[in-house]
Amino acid sequence: MGLLPPYLDPALPVADRVADLLGRMTLPEKVGQMLQLNAKEGVRHLVEELHAGSILHASPERVLEAAALTEKTRLRIPLLVAEDCIHGHSFWEGATIYPTQLGMAATWDTDLVERIARATAVEVAATGVHWTFSPVLCITRDLRWGRVSETFGEDPHLIGELGSAMVRGYQGEGLSDPTAILACAKHFAGYSETQGGRDASEADISRRKLRSWFLPPFERVAKEGCRTFMLGYQSMDGVPITVNDWLLGEVLRGEWGYTGTLVTDWDNVGRMVWEQKIYADYAQASAAAVRAGNDMVMTTSKFFDGAQESVAEGALTEAEIDAAVRRILTLKFELGLFENPRHPDAARQAEFIGSAAHAELNLEAARRSLVLLTNDGTLPLAGGLEAEEPGSLTAHGGGRARATASGPRTVAVVGPNAYDAQTQLGDWAGSSGQADWLPDGQPRAMIRTVLDGFRDRVPADWTVAYAPGARILGVGPDPEGEFFPDGQPRPEVVVPAEPDPALIGEAVAAAEAADHVVAVVGDRIELIGEGKSTATLELVGDQVALLDALAATGKPLVVVVISSKPLVLPPSALRAAAIVYAANPGMLGGTAVAELLLGLIEPTGRLPLSFARHAGQQPTYYNQVRGQHGTRYADLTQSPAFAFGEGLSYTTVTYSALELLTAVVEPTETVRARVTLTNSGSRPALETLQVYVSDTVTSVTWAEKELKAYEQVALAPGESRQVDLELPVAACTLVDARGRRVVEPGRFELLVGPSSRDEALLRAEFTVKG
Ligand code: BGC
Repeated sequence: MGLLPPYLDPALPVADRVADLLGRMTLPEKVGQMLQLNAKEGVRHLVEELHAGSILHASPERVLEAAALTEKTRLRIPLLVAEDCIHGHSFWEGATIYPTQLGMAATWDTDLVERIARATAVEVAATGVHWTFSPVLCITRDLRWGRVSETFGEDPHLIGELGSAMVRGYQGEGLSDPTAILACAKHFAGYSETQGGRDASEADISRRKLRSWFLPPFERVAKEGCRTFMLGYQSMDGVPITVNDWLLGEVLRGEWGYTGTLVTDWDNVGRMVWEQKIYADYAQASAAAVRAGNDMVMTTSKFFDGAQESVAEGALTEAEIDAAVRRILTLKFELGLFENPRHPDAARQAEFIGSAAHAELNLEAARRSLVLLTNDGTLPLAGGLEAEEPGSLTAHGGGRARATASGPRTVAVVGPNAYDAQTQLGDWAGSSGQADWLPDGQPRAMIRTVLDGFRDRVPADWTVAYAPGARILGVGPDPEGEFFPDGQPRPEVVVPAEPDPALIGEAVAAAEAADHVVAVVGDRIELIGEGKSTATLELVGDQVALLDALAATGKPLVVVVISSKPLVLPPSALRAAAIVYAANPGMLGGTAVAELLLGLIEPTGRLPLSFARHAGQQPTYYNQVRGQHGTRYADLTQSPAFAFGEGLSYTTVTYSALELLTAVVEPTETVRARVTLTNSGSRPALETLQVYVSDTVTSVTWAEKELKAYEQVALAPGESRQVDLELPVAACTLVDARGRRVVEPGRFELLVGPSSRDEALLRAEFTVKG
């Protein structure tokens, strides 16, 4: 030990080790430490010449190569390996891919989300990856935005709850736990306030609006100990987030006292030069980025020379670079990487990646994520079935756990998303485009589509027929060229499919010959993701023609929407016997859908965001600010097709007798109330009881109501239960004209019920004393 330099001595305090190491580093080594570089094009140059502190998008082979190269560097500073493992270990072949964040949000279940994040961390950590760029805390505002599926929906409270759960799950018992991975709250902040849904457009957003709705989930996870934040692409008031002193300095580091690590988004520093054009060169942009408090610079390799040039010119001091490097090294020491660099571990991979236990959890998540939007009583099919072996609905979708029923039946499973395994996974998974080492996506055998699910789960004497019925789209080259100016490939442009009478005819024939018709429609990866916002929200291609033709058969039609985001559904779907929304439900989503439709499980999901009736209704989020002329468009209502919080059960739950136990409270006290829930049907329910608050008179315009709490209550058939509610007055805040979050004394209403729809909520008034 005596021969080792102090920074390699684990017995010394981290601050001393950091100081010792920093003292040994050259300027190029320090600047390199701030770089997080794209490993796709090879790692040798990144490690040996650019002294990179971190890499991302590294294939399994590259992770190993980079680890070996790092061992040979002068100071042997371990690399931080980062990846977007945002609903499972996205780009690891055979990893467990869960429902997207939006699907997870539909469960409203913090415990489940925490368990998913924990299981993900265990898989990720075994592969030499230390850092996931998750959770996304952006608020969905305009549904045309391509990244809706990455969010937890539209409500800041729900996002804060689920985001915190995810952070806890990833970071586990603390960074010294070798199965902990760094969480990253992104994209800080306001990125989703797009113009017309266009990705990364300037966010026309005031500081007050940020404080009101966009910042609270981030503040929440900062308090939860989320170790890293990623900064958004967009600018606000003309200032890119990357150099936004107010947001980074005053709010994040100042008011919140955040001491974690900040990483830019993809080439944010370069974008200030070539895209936003607010700096003439990389020296200027690099100096500004360091000065604003960025620690890691993602994929701007020109930062390497730019930052050194600005030090040489005297525009930036080495001490300013030291401050960032100190934070990065601290993180590496706290992770214990100098003692255990957490390289890939084949034994742990074999034990945990895609394990049966994780598949079980995944099936639980998929089941819980499904939202029943309408039902005329057609579902469950045949009034509900029973499992052949009770309790044996295992995660693996095999034939063991079939339902039983009396008499043979035929189910026609039709539609383009009924049997499209990779599409079911959604964005950031396998072949979704960000990684090039999984061209065929995740292993087909791990995925159960809706068609697979029906084949696995129907009673043995039932027949399952299949016809795709429609195609969604084709793609063609972008007329503006193959690449963006930064060399990133432009996605191909979407060419919607024309109706194909032969395909539709096959599906109609299958429907006519069947007892039950299940049409699985939705979107595809070409319509999802960064730079892939959509101008419309309708079902693309010949899907509407397919649904119209199926509806015309007169057979009860069940529509399953597997899509990255809420779509505008045509009248033939809205008038169908039932609609189920499955937000890219993950590898076992098809099994869960079949089980739900067959009545083997109960529908428990609730919408984490609203469905529009028309793309022109954007934005449709429920917590809009009071005060406009009228409440509708001349030609259409403003009310959404399906509202935040909605979702049906196979039974009926009623709310009654809302009673306030404390009608007058001090600002420091807690409002106590009570409500009775009754399951008056014959099937069990897991009811998501939602508590909203409406501040009656406010000093500034404010949302008519906001979700403040919720609770999931299990109710057996016929059960009636009194539920006690507690809401600290401190939660009943607004942001005043000066940007301060305050409780304004006076009258409030407590709104309790099954969704954000006014007509669904019971109301009771309380007063906060002045
Ligand atoms: C996205 C981030 C992502 C990063 C790395 C960016 O383009 O906006 O969400 O984490 O790429 O893949």
